[in-house]
Amino acid sequence: MEIVKRNGLEFLTSDKIDAIHGFTLRHGGVSQGDFSSLNMGLRRGDNPFNAIKNIEKCADALMLDKEKLTLTYQLHTAKVHFLTPEDIGKGFCREWGEGVDGIVTDMKNVPLLCYSADCVPTLLYDKKRGMIGAVHGGWRGTKDNIIANAVDVMIEHGAKVEDICAFIGPAIGICCYEVSEDVGEQFAGEYESLVIKKDNGKYMLDLKSITASQLMEKGVLRENIENCCICTSCRNDMFFSHRAQKGRSGLLGGFIQMI
Ligand SMILES: [Zn+2]
Repeated sequence: MEIVKRNGLEFLTSDKIDAIHGFTLRHGGVSQGDFSSLNMGLRRGDNPFNAIKNIEKCADALMLDKEKLTLTYQLHTAKVHFLTPEDIGKGFCREWGEGVDGIVTDMKNVPLLCYSADCVPTLLYDKKRGMIGAVHGGWRGTKDNIIANAVDVMIEHGAKVEDICAFIGPAIGICCYEVSEDVGEQFAGEYESLVIKKDNGKYMLDLKSITASQLMEKGVLRENIENCCICTSCRNDMFFSHRAQKGRSGLLGGFIQMI
């Protein structure tokens, strides 16, 4: 994992992903206040024109085909959609009309973008088949195993599980992600080592490692997975954090495109 600079913007990248990709940091955008400054969220209370400007700025810096930018429409579903040419531009220029928290494509020059602030953004790539994915998983999507759905969609379209590489991006860590007893118990049985029960009955959850564990359960190789060690809440100076900013924050973006 390393931070690379492109046109004055910083992106977190992984050598596991051999396509154009990167997770955005907070700085270098045009948004103000709580959204300062590189907010990718179009529906977070920021001026949407600023968010659009930020997204286009990132697309330019990464030399992506911004006319074809296609975004998830994240409603905490576990739905993953394999893009058809008719879907190009959805989530950005056009509406999806329903929640699609994960998108996968084998089309070249079609940049994908998922976004988050504490939830887990994951980029997927099968270089041999030529297929990429961008997936958002909060606790609901992770409980419903959206990442396994994404792997299934890739396999259905010809990817091989042993060729799939994953970069799990910056998200809230077990250090800061306290959830209610009700939520914690939904993970405690299956992911015992990635959940800590506190004396007050609440739980601390390691959503990123649960995502990595779900990928490995599907057969993705451990050596093909990079799990970002940075906690967005601890490092609110670098990344937006919904929790650290008490619900008023921008969103980071996870971009990926094949050429
Ligand atoms: Zn933390």
